[in-house]
Amino acid sequence: MFNFLPYHPTWEILDSTKLGRMMTCDRLSFFMDICGLQPIQESIHLNFGTAWHSAKEHLLWCHEWDGKPGYPAESLRGAVSAFQDEWREHYSGDIGDAKYPHKSLSSAVIALESYIRKHTYEEPDDFKVIYTEIAGSLELNEFDKIHFRLDGLLESSNGFIIPDHKTASSGGDRFKNSWDMHLQFAIYVLAVSAFLENKPNQRKLPCVLVDGTIFTKVPKHERVVFALNIEQLNAWIVQIHQLIARFYENLEFLEHEDIEALDMSCYPRRTVSCQNYYGRPCPFKEICWMGKNPLKLLAEGSPHLNSFKQEYWNPMDLSDGARTNLEI
Ligand code: SF4
Repeated sequence: MFNFLPYHPTWEILDSTKLGRMMTCDRLSFFMDICGLQPIQESIHLNFGTAWHSAKEHLLWCHEWDGKPGYPAESLRGAVSAFQDEWREHYSGDIGDAKYPHKSLSSAVIALESYIRKHTYEEPDDFKVIYTEIAGSLELNEFDKIHFRLDGLLESSNGFIIPDHKTASSGGDRFKNSWDMHLQFAIYVLAVSAFLENKPNQRKLPCVLVDGTIFTKVPKHERVVFALNIEQLNAWIVQIHQLIARFYENLEFLEHEDIEALDMSCYPRRTVSCQNYYGRPCPFKEICWMGKNPLKLLAEGSPHLNSFKQEYWNPMDLSDGARTNLEI
């Protein structure tokens, strides 16, 4: 490769985040997963989501199976403290980012309280926790391997459930309709069904429970079930192979790039709006808008890259909160 862009081992660790990023925009995949560039500026959404995950993981382990479904009242204290521990790593006050006042410490406390109430009295949760925070990989064939990070694995009288803790700023149909074609969940179903293959009484495919909390003025909780039949799962398997092939094809083309060319011929820029579903602009918008060859910018150490740090995403990083490792 180029001396300013040496090989990085995470290029061989593919997961739904990387493949999904490439589906969103090849150039984004280049910036984030090949160059490892991340915005230096803290993201309230990321920090809030991480803290929320810790609180929800605590609640899962407090959950009672057999006899008393739901969550004991004292689980609130531990969940709040799990949230607070993460939150305090980034913010000293109640609000982390004035633009998003509903993603605050006090909103999280209110939301945890109402979550416990809802899933203990109104719609009581009844399952057994098998694992939380799982990092794993699945060999699809002798060439292709996919990695995954799951929030947990639960067993209910109705089958196996993969919970996925989500936070959002708007709910209703927008939240409900966001998950039908979600590569991430298809990979989860594929991985867990392969893991459970030899378990007795495993009659049907596991499903993903999208366990969302919508942080508006009054936080509310919405759940969506993502379930697939075998035919649908097989269609996803074909697509996962195609995406893995495209990821490596892009890398192969990169080797033959000329840094003096007007632009890279691989990793094309997106041709429609460069903002995500919630209207947030892509952090690389300014660079892409300039229309310069990113390889040249990297080679010259352009000041346009000063607002980014180099930090490669690795779904297998056990230091990043994973408790269980599954190699399937
Ligand atoms: S600004 Fe647009 S083209 Fe550039 S990386 Fe982001 S999404 Fe892709």
